[in-house]
Amino acid sequence: MHAFAYKNGSLYCENVKLEDIAKAVGTPVFVYSKKTIADDLAEFRQAMAPLDTHIAYAVKACSNKAILNLMAREGLGFDIVSGGELWRVINAGGDPARCTYAGVAKTEPEIRYALQQGIYCFNCESENELREINRIAGEMGLIAPVAVRVNPHVDAHTHKYITTGTNENKFGIDISRIEEVYATIAAEMPHLRIKGLQMHIGSQLTDIKPFVMAVEKVAPIVRKFKELYQIEFWSIGGGIGIIYDGCLASGQEEWWTAHPEQITITGYAEALIPLLQPLGLKILLEPGRRLVGNAAAMLTTCVYEKKGEAKTFKMIDAGMNDIIRPALYEGYHEIWPVREHCGDTIVADIVGPICESGDFQALNRTMADVKPGEILAEMSAGAYGFSMASTYNSRPLAAEVLVDGDKWSIIRRRQTMEEMVSGECLPE
Ligand SMILES: *Cc1c(COP(=O)(O)O)cnc(C)c1O
Repeated sequence: MHAFAYKNGSLYCENVKLEDIAKAVGTPVFVYSKKTIADDLAEFRQAMAPLDTHIAYAVKACSNKAILNLMAREGLGFDIVSGGELWRVINAGGDPARCTYAGVAKTEPEIRYALQQGIYCFNCESENELREINRIAGEMGLIAPVAVRVNPHVDAHTHKYITTGTNENKFGIDISRIEEVYATIAAEMPHLRIKGLQMHIGSQLTDIKPFVMAVEKVAPIVRKFKELYQIEFWSIGGGIGIIYDGCLASGQEEWWTAHPEQITITGYAEALIPLLQPLGLKILLEPGRRLVGNAAAMLTTCVYEKKGEAKTFKMIDAGMNDIIRPALYEGYHEIWPVREHCGDTIVADIVGPICESGDFQALNRTMADVKPGEILAEMSAGAYGFSMASTYNSRPLAAEVLVDGDKWSIIRRRQTMEEMVSGECLPE
């Protein structure tokens, strides 16, 4: 997390003191670093430069309008998974013609909307979906651009809720059937145009091997499809993992030395480019987490402390409704006080206000002995953080702030109580 560091005992994002933001807008608040996003994107682009690529940022990782606008100005395309995400992209200044649309349960209104907007490609996940898009495109007098998501049976060795490339999950079409499905499209679905092939094996991969295995496994099929159907792209999905653990603590250099297996952008590029370049196709990349994950911290205030029989708890004003990653898939986030502590540490659980035992941000964490009133920064909160937030327990959605050098702006006001219940009404 290049832009987050202590200076003179205070935690900064770029040149802004995080405590100042917390005081001005309250907590919880997500604070994004524009520089980190730009740097991570530049690194990614540079590493993949030898290929003819189209980068489609996975909107679901972080879908704030200002972040999408930033990506659009960088010239990125977008990987969307709903009609709502397409609407957001257009609303934020993105180009629908650079959108790929994934997802296993696209509805008729969503398909119509995407066809009207002229998206780049539907990435389809089942034969019935293909038939439905064919029917709707026929009715609208259009030809729908499609690719099919192939499930290559490669275990991404990530958490079971975010692995997507084995035959035990709902995504894509089995590699053993993919050729048959393409033949069926060509023979029976006149309102579809085969444009590419897609795959995505999981999220938060920290090891390069599953990526290499999947690319090696699917490349022969890609070659065949280039011949048979003149496909123009192969999407190899997203899934590149980030560092959640230890990055701020020990400093970048030491951390990398201690974790030689951790995937890097350079390592990803070096392993995959030689396999992809000979295909002579446009390669679509769909990074989500890698472009925004380390670009934000969520600030939260310690409200109470409780020393139980077996444990010490630090209660904070952010819950699983604000960041669900620890509760949903045992996600790990570093948590640091915005005012640096020296001296003793304790072991504590950092828990939220929600009435669920799963509502924790950290368990058995060795941490500074922060006191009520102190502000904490939950690091690496940029991806699948705010975008998964809800108002569960009637907690209004948090605020979001974008830092740019020594300036910062609110990119989402904290939700008011009225906004939270707007749309609700009594029966007639
Ligand atoms: C979620 C998703 C991505 C992005 O995954 P990350 O792990 O955030 O890079 C890319 N492609 C598809 C189809 C997805 O569903």
